Amino acid sequence: MCGIVAVSGNAEAARLAYLGLYSLQHRGQEAAGIAAFDSATGESSREREAGLVSDALPEERLAKLRGDLAVGHIRYSTAGGAGLKNAQPIRERYRGGHLALVHNGNLTNANLLRERLLNEGALFQSSIDSEVIVHLIARSRGESADDQMMDALSQLEGAYCVLVTVGDTLFAARDPYGYRPLVIGSLPTGGLVVASETCALDIVHARYVRDVEPGEVIRIRGGEIEQVRRLPRFVAEPQPCVFELVYFARPDTRLWGYTVDRARRAFGRKLADEQPAPGDIVISVPDSANSAAVGYSERSGIPFELGLIRNHYVGRTFITPTQVGRDFKVRMKFSPVREVLEGKRVVVVDDSLVRGTTSRALVHMLREAGASEVHLRLASPPVRWPCFYGIDMPTREELIASDRSVEEIRAYLGVDSLGYLSPDGMIDCVSDGGETYCTACFTGDYRAPLVDAQEGLAMTSHC
Ligand code: AMP
Repeated sequence: MCGIVAVSGNAEAARLAYLGLYSLQHRGQEAAGIAAFDSATGESSREREAGLVSDALPEERLAKLRGDLAVGHIRYSTAGGAGLKNAQPIRERYRGGHLALVHNGNLTNANLLRERLLNEGALFQSSIDSEVIVHLIARSRGESADDQMMDALSQLEGAYCVLVTVGDTLFAARDPYGYRPLVIGSLPTGGLVVASETCALDIVHARYVRDVEPGEVIRIRGGEIEQVRRLPRFVAEPQPCVFELVYFARPDTRLWGYTVDRARRAFGRKLADEQPAPGDIVISVPDSANSAAVGYSERSGIPFELGLIRNHYVGRTFITPTQVGRDFKVRMKFSPVREVLEGKRVVVVDDSLVRGTTSRALVHMLREAGASEVHLRLASPPVRWPCFYGIDMPTREELIASDRSVEEIRAYLGVDSLGYLSPDGMIDCVSDGGETYCTACFTGDYRAPLVDAQEGLAMTSHC
């Protein structure tokens, strides 16, 4: 998962990048970092730390980040990849000068490239696939930074949005399939900002200029776009991730041509058409399913109520299940509103079902709070396949829908009825202009080759 941001051509680059990261916090909570470059002095600096943006980058650290160019990153926690050495930006000095890199996505040939580089004598400091890109840039025989960038990016497979600074120059690139989002905005106080989501433009009053299109490598200097090149690979059907619309992106972000809130409402309306339920009230699993639940309520005519409250202050906990029961994590995060639920047939709308553990505990909680019936409706199809393109998903075995029928899942969750949005119904809601999407987690249709797996190597899943 992860979020990235860059600011070029503004004296407050690091502070603006900080605000951008703040608005991208939902994309990762494990670590945050910013690297800055000062074109006047030629000096570079970097600060990165574990934790939320506000904790990782306090004022005294931000004050050290001087310059008119900055890149920032927030990292999502994934299985084996924790630790500060895996936090970004990566910063190195090579023959082209100071280099800093941030990456969102997941390379599918990272381990193959890493093996090759190790055999050639490269030394790695982290276990993240992003470091491979830095080595490829530094080892490229290309003379200019442009050529080094094209050379390195052409060797990558899978999903990536990268922001790389080489001296005073910023490169913004997106893989030819366009799995992850990357947008450019112009700042009212001068310069450009590039970020994973438009919500990072809004927070700094930047005006949306354009997307970085799939396969583009854009060179920016002093806050101006200087050059746009295309990677050699041409992909006829771009594969932007539909799960960004379903769950991951912030509702106020504009993504793939749709405001995320509007797309989720449309999923909810379509879900009501396809999977009606006998309910007195519709509630959402906050916050990710709020928009879909509003859509479901609008279309079905069943009133929307706030039946579950989410606690936003849940951090890491050291309480063990034996102390408070197995569903303690869910009870720390969600509380039922008894007066709303008591004696009601409740239609619960959630955005997706992954492992099923949260929903199972939630259903139990709703019944305890007096719901007479619980009808679960999912505003996306069954998640059956892991993601190798940058969404952190459990293994196939852990996905509840990988080998169970809807009836088996219904029985496991203990709901009175269960209904999923159909794959066609979902795409129908967000393809007004004939857009194509990556739906691999629902369909197993992996377009970018899973090179490491084909070579018998482990697939990395970092961000
Ligand atoms: P569960 O089915 O218990 O694994 O929880 C599913 C819920 O987690 C969904 O309702 C989403 O809101 C949220 N979710 C979906 N995908 C992810 C993901 N990749 N990482 C973390 N949470 C997710």
